[in-house]
Amino acid sequence: MTTPAYEVIVECPNCGIEFHDWVRNSINLSLGETWTDDDIEEAFSVTCPECGHRESTGGLIVEMPTRL
Ligand SMILES: [Zn+2]
Repeated sequence: MTTPAYEVIVECPNCGIEFHDWVRNSINLSLGETWTDDDIEEAFSVTCPECGHRESTGGLIVEMPTRL
């Protein structure tokens, strides 16, 4: 299933400031949800508002086969 977004506090490895962002643990592409590559990248990463550094959170993309 697609997990709801949750808030995380991150210390930017580039400039060292702390900021919060929203990430997901997993998304499920089999439920008819439409995700672009940019959406997926955004869902699994946080972006520093100060320097623009993007850090992946290493989420999972779950793609379940449809069972009939
Ligand atoms: Zn930064």
